[in-house]
Amino acid sequence: MFDTLPRRSSRQVKVGTVRIGGGAPVMVQSMTNTDTEDVAATVAQVAALARAGSEVVRITVNTLAAARAVPVIRAALDAQGVAVPLVGDFHFNGHKLLTEVPDCAAALAKLRINPGNVGHGAKRDDQFGAMIEAAIRFDKPVRIGVNWGSLDPELIARMMDENAARPQPLDADLVMREALIVSALDSAAKAEALGLAGDKIVLSCKVSAVQDLIAVYRSLAARCDYPLHLGLTEAGMGSKGIVASTAALAVLLQEGIGDTIRISLTPEPNGDRTREVVVAQEILQTMGLRSFTPMVAACPGCGRTTSTYFQELAEKIQSYLRAQMPVWRSAYPGVEDMHVAVMGCVVNGPGESKLADIGISLPGSGERPVAPVYVDGEKAVTLKGDRIAEEFQALVDDYVKKNFAPGAAPRVRSRKKEIPIKAVA
Ligand code: SF4
Repeated sequence: MFDTLPRRSSRQVKVGTVRIGGGAPVMVQSMTNTDTEDVAATVAQVAALARAGSEVVRITVNTLAAARAVPVIRAALDAQGVAVPLVGDFHFNGHKLLTEVPDCAAALAKLRINPGNVGHGAKRDDQFGAMIEAAIRFDKPVRIGVNWGSLDPELIARMMDENAARPQPLDADLVMREALIVSALDSAAKAEALGLAGDKIVLSCKVSAVQDLIAVYRSLAARCDYPLHLGLTEAGMGSKGIVASTAALAVLLQEGIGDTIRISLTPEPNGDRTREVVVAQEILQTMGLRSFTPMVAACPGCGRTTSTYFQELAEKIQSYLRAQMPVWRSAYPGVEDMHVAVMGCVVNGPGESKLADIGISLPGSGERPVAPVYVDGEKAVTLKGDRIAEEFQALVDDYVKKNFAPGAAPRVRSRKKEIPIKAVA
């Protein structure tokens, strides 16, 4: 799998027990949207994100009360057995919070510093320096996270003036892209000059437009060896946010750029925050970079599937598989590589089902009301009647126990597996 192929960054940064870059699998992270001062709500959301598969969770640290809540949140998570590393997101007053609440820095596994939001003029260097000193004192890595929406105003003003003085000024968008990169690289150089080790630095330069993100990260990757945190900022809601994030990240990941990803989806009101974790995992898994949960191949349905039964079964099986993963992950190692097919009729149903580890071909309109099930490419049983869904789920359970329990006989490899394309170094 790609997991073992070297990624672009040869440096590796440790975030608690998690590794970023240096050949580690592309790591999935997320961020809470709770008020960090609300310890109970934040603990619940961090735990939910971790259960969904987020390997690191970032929380806002914006007030003294929030900074004081961080060690309490850490202790509550530890008491629940949730070991996911926490990252503190600091803007404007991070230097004060980290100095006044040392337990906050101690409880975090990484600090995110936005160089555009650390102060202005003479204060800027001192405040940035205070945050880097805290990272050094508590032996924490730092993400220098530049964002299009909060780019250092003094830097962009200077670069725009320099551009205007050129005989042939560049387009303002190109200057903005360059300013993002310069902000990240200059800040990293300053952090190293202050004594922070190079293997304690992760960089990001987030923008909200797909082509800008691709151009910025290609350039950033060519100019440094720090592990890169990828993400399209302000990606938006629903399918737009998912499509835009996927379009941008897929191009970069395929080129070997990016060591950790976060999908910045705007949830629907009262929507499930864990969606961003699922989308991040699905991007990596559908690209063949990592495996997180068994994948269900399902046809789109057509005029041959006039009832909703087929969609309901596909949805039920996918949800069931994902819900089992917190237990299955340790009980059945390798189960995340399993392929399941749920198909709507005889046209492509048997063929796709044979390519999966286990697949079912449901009867389309006008077909005999029977559903053949294929296991490891062979027809194993034909289901019929009112309990096809329950019986198929039981067959999937049996397949998992038989093939993935420790000590199980070596499994016939699914023919659905794709041969990975070698990552671009
Ligand atoms: S497999 Fe059958 S039901 Fe599914 S899209 Fe193809 S023809 Fe339609």
